[in-house]
Amino acid sequence: MRNRLRRLRERLRPVDPAFAAALTRRWAELPQGVRTPGQVIGRHGVGCEGTHGVFPRCNLACTPCYHSRDTNRVRVDGPHTRARVEEQMATFEQVRGPVAHAQLIGGEVTLLDPDDHAAALQIMRRHGREPMSMTHGDVDPAYLHRLAVGPDGRRRFRRLSFAVHIDSLMFGRRGIARPPHERSLTPYADASSTPSAPCGASSGSGRSSRTA
Ligand code: SF4
Repeated sequence: MRNRLRRLRERLRPVDPAFAAALTRRWAELPQGVRTPGQVIGRHGVGCEGTHGVFPRCNLACTPCYHSRDTNRVRVDGPHTRARVEEQMATFEQVRGPVAHAQLIGGEVTLLDPDDHAAALQIMRRHGREPMSMTHGDVDPAYLHRLAVGPDGRRRFRRLSFAVHIDSLMFGRRGIARPPHERSLTPYADASSTPSAPCGASSGSGRSSRTA
């Protein structure tokens, strides 16, 4: 009975052979010590991915930031961003398989023009990636609206996802560039507003106490 149910389930939920092959490869790449019964990489997914070195500039100055000072000399450039994201996602699709989650990560993603940000997300989706934009969150609702809604007034995405990476003091944020302590940020966080439902944005926002 159990086998019949399993076969029925497999027929109803066929697995993309390319995805199955990617999972097999991923499992084979894992060190023996992490092939535990609870390991999901190589069984349910290939693991999360992210863009690398595309738009490293940021206008905050979190103390434990992993970027060098030189990153703020890098120009934020839409055509460069789109071309490099296209290249990196094509590589992921080829090497890691047709489906995965991926972070659009720099730097600060909202320093990109909203149309370039949207184009990068569309490229990621075209390569089978479920994207998440990594931001410090010090951004206006108007920017999020322009990201979510195209020049034709139509919604660009079924879903937008964000995650916030900051440290506890957010040095450089608007309104209070050098807060004496974390609590002093509360009025600014409370004053922030989020876009309303028509943008279709889902968010992992909220003030994190640690940098990513
Ligand atoms: S927001 Fe992120 S990229 Fe910017 S300074 Fe902080 S940790 Fe670095």
